Amino acid sequence: MKETVCTQALKRAAEAEGGSAALAQVLRVPQGTLERWISGRAQTPLRAFLKVLERLASHEMNGAAAPLAVNGDPLTFAMGKLLARCSRCDGTEFTPADGAAALKLTGELRCRGCGETVVHGDLIARLAQDAVQYSHAMTAARTRRLGARNITTAKKDER
Ligand SMILES: [Zn+2]
Repeated sequence: MKETVCTQALKRAAEAEGGSAALAQVLRVPQGTLERWISGRAQTPLRAFLKVLERLASHEMNGAAAPLAVNGDPLTFAMGKLLARCSRCDGTEFTPADGAAALKLTGELRCRGCGETVVHGDLIARLAQDAVQYSHAMTAARTRRLGARNITTAKKDER
């Protein structure tokens, strides 16, 4: 399973809390559920993910979590098929605004396209919100297709 912004944040938060059991308790979910989120086998609910970001940001502040190491390459943030985008120019590549080698959730990113800055945690929270809307749209489309198929089957049964 490909690492996403979401699975990566969950992993880092679990480490900072002292294990997935501890993080599951913080989020008030069964450990097995959390582990499916961490492995990417199940989609993390938005509310839980935002809570994880919040915890992770405070762990970065108190030193329990190390900020993300960056090596100077352009950064992109992926969740499913979506990439985090600059709100001004729609660009998808960012660099730490202060040129630091480690990036906290409270740190600023600069868009490589237009120079607009955005707080790392905010960018990811917005991406998670977009990802939820995107997956709802996909589910709705699938339900419509299944619905259409059921009608065809039903017509056959009538004969
Ligand atoms: Zn931009």
